[in-house]
Amino acid sequence: MPLPSDQYDRQLAANVRPADWTNPDPRQRYHLVVIGAGPGGLMVAAIAAGLGARVALIERHRLGGDCLNAGCVPSKALIAAARSWRVAADSSRDFGGPRTVGTGDFATAMQRMRRLRAELSRADSAARYRDLGVDVFLGEGAFTGRDAVSVAGRVLRFRRAVIASGSRAAIPRVPGLEGTGYLTNETVLDLAQLPRHLVVLGAGPNGCEMGQAFARFGSRVTLVEEQAHILPGEDPDAARVVGRALEGDGVRLLVEARVLRADPRGSTRVLQVQRDGRTEEIAADQVLLAAGRVPNVEGLGLEAAGVAFGPRGIRVDDRLRTSNRRIFAIGDVCSQERFTHVADAQARLVVGNALFFGLGGGDASRLIVPRVTYTSPEVAHVGRSLGEAAGAGYRVDTITVPFEAVDRAVLDGQNGGFLRVHLQRGRGRILGATLVAEHAGEMIGELALAVTAGVGLGAIGSTIRPYPTQGEAIRKVADAWRRARLTPRAKRGFERFFRILR
Ligand code: FAD
Repeated sequence: MPLPSDQYDRQLAANVRPADWTNPDPRQRYHLVVIGAGPGGLMVAAIAAGLGARVALIERHRLGGDCLNAGCVPSKALIAAARSWRVAADSSRDFGGPRTVGTGDFATAMQRMRRLRAELSRADSAARYRDLGVDVFLGEGAFTGRDAVSVAGRVLRFRRAVIASGSRAAIPRVPGLEGTGYLTNETVLDLAQLPRHLVVLGAGPNGCEMGQAFARFGSRVTLVEEQAHILPGEDPDAARVVGRALEGDGVRLLVEARVLRADPRGSTRVLQVQRDGRTEEIAADQVLLAAGRVPNVEGLGLEAAGVAFGPRGIRVDDRLRTSNRRIFAIGDVCSQERFTHVADAQARLVVGNALFFGLGGGDASRLIVPRVTYTSPEVAHVGRSLGEAAGAGYRVDTITVPFEAVDRAVLDGQNGGFLRVHLQRGRGRILGATLVAEHAGEMIGELALAVTAGVGLGAIGSTIRPYPTQGEAIRKVADAWRRARLTPRAKRGFERFFRILR
């Protein structure tokens, strides 16, 4: 990331990478040394220090990690801006609202993002962590042995260590790409001008989110995906709804497409894209990489520490312990579910596993992890997909409620999505659920609670919710389940009863 460019970036740096920071003198031996101060590392350090442990936290770049600096926070600020541009543009046509004229101001949207990121950075600041009792070391951390780490010329000894070094954008192996130039999730945030034509490589969550946001800002956007549909990890029907929404925003979707080569041509970047047996030349002024992540395992001295790793990251057991019994790993560097809330949840487990012989800790595989793609509409999922449930030996019933049947969604003009719930056959137990709705991320929490706590559709259906809300979709699933449970025999019984009443 380049040096601070405006007052907000200076404020950010003062919080998370203060130029005048002096590393403390290392204690004789730490209970816990944490490498990486993203959401995972910060959470471990805060909890362990709060419990009275001697903790050192090492960060080579900026506290807050990807989430604050180049991930969740800035991307959601841009998405919020792009969404409001779109709502304003549609207001006249859809609601008889005032007409908008002209184009928006991309620089202002970017500045807002930097301002909010700087404001939120206070919570992750080096000074705050020092005040929490954590020894904060700025510098590259590398193991020098099985129980020691070096940073900025000092050696820290530890009883336990946690590696939370995160991940970075994968660079696809496309001939010519290196010389042609590209943007990553970090450098896209430094754009001073809106690209006229942006090609996004990869239509997973990040690619779809950024592609839609830039289209709404006014870029021409082409989204290139190798798989058969966008959001390859999601229910294909959910991906279809999002695909239609992206196309409605003007995004051109190229699925089952492969970039064969990239070349600079004047001020443009030219990609050869193969699809349906034909090769097409696409000229763009910017190319954004969103084709997966790679774990940060280099330079950590993992060999010296006896920590095993592979292409998917550091190898851990269910207790998040590495091949060195003293060392644990959490977050993007070891997990295939790369989310801030996963790093956070693993951090809470690892404190118990590492420092209290498992007390207060637990198995990572027991975590129920919801996920959200923040497009419009959003796609949220928790639990098993249909394939995963069937693969685990369950007999599955699936109930789908379209948002066309939910009054509030109709009134809001947000009725294109659906709620789909997979149930254990014959029971009200929820195995998995997918929501496609404008604010699906706000609604998935209830279903995550149901899956985590084993709350069945019976209890969910008896919960009264305010009318009209989009959350009524969840009650409608419960109603549909109750109706389906009514056996023909019971139905005949009720009919007889009502005939007698007459
Ligand atoms: P990171 O946040 O990557 O932090 C790792 C830290 O370790 C970094 O600060 C790095 O500098 C430091 N480090 C690495 N090696 C060393 C070393 N040798 N010495 C010292 N320090 C080191 N997740 C969500 O849940 N919701 C979202 O909306 C969301 N949006 C995203 C949008 C984008 C564009 C991207 C890229 C990611 C998004 N994510 C989102 C994912 C989320 O950012 C990550 O899952 C999360 O940041 C992982 O946390 P972490 O602590 O494992 O690692």
